[in-house]
Amino acid sequence: MKTEAVRKIHFCAGHRVYGHESKCSNLHGHNYVLWVHASANGLDDLGRIIDFSVLKEKVDTWIQTNWDHTFLAYKNDLELLALEPLIQKNKPWFVCPFNPTAENMAGFLFKEIIPELLKDTGVVVSRLVLYETENCKVEVF
Ligand SMILES: [Zn+2]
Repeated sequence: MKTEAVRKIHFCAGHRVYGHESKCSNLHGHNYVLWVHASANGLDDLGRIIDFSVLKEKVDTWIQTNWDHTFLAYKNDLELLALEPLIQKNKPWFVCPFNPTAENMAGFLFKEIIPELLKDTGVVVSRLVLYETENCKVEVF
């Protein structure tokens, strides 16, 4: 039997997919929904993998600080980067080392960000599910 604790996180962000063949090359945004699955070797004394509030504090804080209500700009998208004064107002945009597809965003969170955020909690991120729209999601595990 395997048990996972799962926390849902919402954020709004703008992006464009650099080099996309059609409408996703336009500047646009999504109401993303991220499901963070955490697992551990066992349960704590209370019978939990991790308190849900800890997952929120660790992961949601990073998302709200870095990605919510901002723009994800690919570092190689020079045409977009030229719009910096327009796009960055009271919050910095997030310049990505990757083209900001849902797959790359989820992979970046899974490999680079969340393991560091959870390093002192005794849990690991076992799966991420990122909904770009109600009908489209990616899963990384
Ligand atoms: Zn999009």
